Order: sequence, then structure tokens, then C-alpha cells
Amino acid sequence: MASKRSIRVGDLIIGGGAPVVIQSMTNTDTRDVEATSAQIRRLYEAGCQLARVSVYDTRCAQAVRELVDRSPIPLVADIHFDHRLAIQSVENGIQKLRINPGNIGGADRVRSLVACAKEHGVPIRIGVNGGSLEPDLLRKYGGPTAEALVESALGHVRILEDCAFYDIAIAVKSSNVPTMVRAYRMLAERTDYPLHLGVTEAGTVRMGTVKSAVGIGSLLLDGIGDTIRVSLSGDPAREIVACKDILRSCGLLDTGVEIVSCPTCGRCSIDVEAMALALEERVAHVSAPIRAAVMGCIVNGPGEARDADIGIAGAAGDILLFRKGEEKPQRLPAERAVDLLAEEIEKLAEER
Ligand code: SF4
Repeated sequence: MASKRSIRVGDLIIGGGAPVVIQSMTNTDTRDVEATSAQIRRLYEAGCQLARVSVYDTRCAQAVRELVDRSPIPLVADIHFDHRLAIQSVENGIQKLRINPGNIGGADRVRSLVACAKEHGVPIRIGVNGGSLEPDLLRKYGGPTAEALVESALGHVRILEDCAFYDIAIAVKSSNVPTMVRAYRMLAERTDYPLHLGVTEAGTVRMGTVKSAVGIGSLLLDGIGDTIRVSLSGDPAREIVACKDILRSCGLLDTGVEIVSCPTCGRCSIDVEAMALALEERVAHVSAPIRAAVMGCIVNGPGEARDADIGIAGAAGDILLFRKGEEKPQRLPAERAVDLLAEEIEKLAEER
């Protein structure tokens, strides 16, 4: 049930059944074009398809021109309250806006923003957040509930629709996972605009990844969501890794090596954790869809890894390499096992 409608952001399609788009946001000073461009490039190299930058003053809006020119992926300007910054960003080439039209102060401002966005073919994402809901909705619902988030979002949507603007995406983020999931489910029933999924202020890498995986993952498995962002404190490139892992876990990304490794138990005869980590790093550049296994023992290892294309298993002091469809495993020298497995994976990738 991915959204029926779609929007175009640069050369990307969001919604309408297109593959889920991976987003992130820079945390450099947007006015520092060098630093921000470098971070956008790093995000792109990690697999980011759409990057958002904060535009909070005129100098940021001026920087948009060069940022767009230098960016390998489309950019979104994140703007609060000031429609002039939005218009300036659009005129400077930004490919998408994130702004809530109900917060920019009156119909005239909305009309001039919409006219500019229409003229340049720039879509608008409405981004409602549990932490910044309108006071009247907080009073009406007694807090930042799912119902309040949805009512707020649909209110902003109506403002744009009243100006005959339909190039819209919507987010209803909350830092509370059950609230966020309920809000998006309600929204998906009431609208068919593309949905941008995220758990806001998700936290540090560990907790933020878990919260995002549960929240975003639940929705994706229901067929809800057209683009995702995992919000983590710190280096945004880590958000891309988490996004890809969530998509892969939901069966929505079939690129790159998926490593399955056993939890280990008393039968384990190799250092599964160290080998799996080393392999992960060693094959991070491989984009072909390959499933590789690292198993602690030969008793259950190959069986547990039966869906894998290739893998290794410990065997009483030895390490065995097994390939899908081959009966006999091959013995590997322990000190080179990870390297040899990685080379086999690279060979498989070339064949695909
Ligand atoms: Fe234990 Fe072997 Fe299963 Fe790993 S593969 S959990 S070592 S039985």
C-alpha cells in the first residue's frame, strides 16, 4: 500500500510504488559550503539518495545555489516559519522544501510560496513533529498523540490544497515509537500522498537504530512509506547504514552483502563475532545481492545458513567454506579464512 501519488524531486521519484528512497540531513553549518558539500558527498557515497540542509537565514539560502550545483543528489531545504527563505531557496535551485504552511503567517505568504514552488516544479514536504505541535491541538488531545499529529498534518495539507497545490509529501514524526506507528497508519488510511517515515530525536546509534528499525520497519512491512530517514545523534553517514539495514531486513533492498552469523553457543569453534565484523568491512564495497554466512560449528552451521550463497563454519579447529549447491565443503587456512571468503564473494559478485 505504498502511496498512489508520487512526487518528483530532481531525478528521483518518491511514492507511486517507486523503491523507498533513503534520506539524511547534514549537520554542518549550511553557510559553510565546503564542509556541507563534503558531507553531502560522503552521504551520497554511503548510499544516501536525498539530503536535507537547514536553511535558517539568508546566507544559508544564498549557499543553496552552490550546494545544489556541487551535489550529486537532490537537496531539500528545511525551513521553519520564514516563507522568504523558502522562496529564495527555490529560486536558487533547491529541489524540495520542507516547510509547514500553517506556520508561515497568513494566506498571502502561502500563495506566494506556492506560486514559486509551482513555477519551479518543487514539491513541499509537510513535516509535523510531536515536539512542535500547535498548542490548540495539544490542548484538544491532551498531548502529542497520534490523532493530534495527523490532524496537524492534514491541516497543513488543506492549506496547500486550497491553493491547488498537490505536489506534497507528509511526515508525522514522534520520538515515541507506538505513537509514530499509529500516526502513520492513520495517515495512510486518510491520504494517498507519499509518506516520509522517521522516528524523531531517536537518540544515539544503539537506541536510535533500534527505535527506528521498530517504527520504520513495522510500517514498511505493512506497505506504508515511500522514503525514510533514521535520525541519529552524530555523524549522519551512520544513518545511511541504518536505513539500508532496515530496508534490507524488510526485503526492500536487494543490493550488497547480507551477512548472517550465528549467535554462537558451546559448540562454537571459531571467533564468529570478529570474523563477521571483519567480513562486513571487507565486502562493504560489493553491491551485488549476496547472502554470506559465518557459523560457529559444522553441526548446525551449514544447515542454519542454508539460504546463504556462501559461508564459512568452524569444524574442530578447522574452517570450512561451503557454497550453495555444492555438497563438499572446502578446508580454509584459519588465518586467511576471512580474506578467502571475501575473495569468493567478490568473484560471485562479478558473475552476477
Ligand atoms: Fe551453536 Fe553451531 Fe548454531 Fe553457532 S552454528 S549457534 S556454534 S550450533
